[in-house]
Amino acid sequence: MEQVKALLGDESPREACGVFGIFAPGRNVAPIVVDGLHALQHRGQESAGMAVSDGNAMVVMKDMGLVSQVFNDYKIAGLVGHVAIGHTRYSTAGSSSWHNAQPMYRNAGGTQFALGHNGNLTNVEELAASIGMLPGMATSDSDLMAELLNRELERGAPYANGESQVLVEALERVLLRLQGAFSLVLADRECLIGVRDPNGFRPLCLGRLDDGWVLASETPALDIAGAHFVREVEPGELVVIGADGCTSRRPWPPERVQPKLCIFEFVYLARPDSRLYGQELHAARVRMGELLAEQASVAADMVVGIPDSGIPAAEGYSRRSRVPFGHGLVKNRYIGRTFIDPEPGKRAVGVRRKLNPLREAIAGKRLVVVDDSIVRGTTTRAIVSMLREAGASEVHLRISSPPYRWPCYFGLDTGTRAELIAADLEVGEVCDYVGADSLAYLSLDALKRATGVPGAGFCDACLTGEYPVPVPIRPNTPQRARAGGRGTPVPAPARQ
Ligand code: SF4
Repeated sequence: MEQVKALLGDESPREACGVFGIFAPGRNVAPIVVDGLHALQHRGQESAGMAVSDGNAMVVMKDMGLVSQVFNDYKIAGLVGHVAIGHTRYSTAGSSSWHNAQPMYRNAGGTQFALGHNGNLTNVEELAASIGMLPGMATSDSDLMAELLNRELERGAPYANGESQVLVEALERVLLRLQGAFSLVLADRECLIGVRDPNGFRPLCLGRLDDGWVLASETPALDIAGAHFVREVEPGELVVIGADGCTSRRPWPPERVQPKLCIFEFVYLARPDSRLYGQELHAARVRMGELLAEQASVAADMVVGIPDSGIPAAEGYSRRSRVPFGHGLVKNRYIGRTFIDPEPGKRAVGVRRKLNPLREAIAGKRLVVVDDSIVRGTTTRAIVSMLREAGASEVHLRISSPPYRWPCYFGLDTGTRAELIAADLEVGEVCDYVGADSLAYLSLDALKRATGVPGAGFCDACLTGEYPVPVPIRPNTPQRARAGGRGTPVPAPARQ
């Protein structure tokens, strides 16, 4: 996993996973799952898989690689059934290996089920110990979750109320023991289940087909499945979809439910054509750029966005500042996540593999360069250097989110606090490190206004250090970085 974390030329925080589920009696749903997973490929590129049931038996197919590498027409032909879940994975807990590819599958005394998870649990050690697993035995938090459910089913009275009812009741008991972030899809042989943790850190939406239902991490996956958006699965909600329709359950007490959607879903993670809290994200990102221009304008000749995620905010910055928008960098879309080099010193090479400057467009110009975030700083530094070498006379960095100062424990791979460039450096020091002429970040208040739903519940812990729920302490994370608390700064490591 550590190597994969260091993928070249892609320094933005990376997402944990995409989940998809479908229930459509009378239809063969595997091709629709593949389409849905393609729409969620940006959330995870390490592995893909699906579990499909025809009512009698469940078949699971998963492998390392992109959706297009894991599934082809020949393989899909062998996946027959009307209820299915699918998953695309980026590992943030557990290694990047076939065993940890999802869905997870168990057969508990005849009750077959499969589970797909987006997010990270924060009480893995405690949960593992509760079922007698030694440290390290749980290969991932998702596998542990499946094992907890498996054991709960083995302890229960099978088929007393029907297989699916038994599964739902066992799941509810397990859910109450979990802490952290989990948007889940599950299937048994007859029904589809969706769950969102009581904080709703990760998204999950519900769609309707003429003859069935769809669950997906993001709304574009509903579109491609031919489903219309019904609503988001609410934080703390469990939906059960079967022959009797869609029913909603609330396993957690009301006081435990507190919406805290990851604000980085708005900034960067979700697709621009996704809708969250009723807002289309492209428009929100353009507004982030507009507010950034209001907060930190600078005399310049051209506004350039770092492809792809910095482009909408660059458009917004240009619109509000009246500095012309232009393309200054070309992205090689075929590099993907193939090249791996864990050494920060070599990331400049990785940036050049992925991005190339348009020299005639930028030579002699004062550039405003807009990106969504700076995490470790090494990639940003390489981009600034590349633009200067290509002839830019000035490079002014504008970031459409506040400084990223605290690690994420809820499903994003950002490393430890010591790896975060803004953890202990002032803005001017970060500017010096990346080699820009000036650097400015969007304020948190402006970011929330730009979402279009400033009063909605957001997690912003990586920006504020105020975690909505208790989190485990990682090396280099001060003890005070707990729920509701700010941490004490620790010295930054020497940087190259
Ligand atoms: S800590 Fe940051 S990245 Fe993680 S869920 Fe909260 S807002 Fe999102």
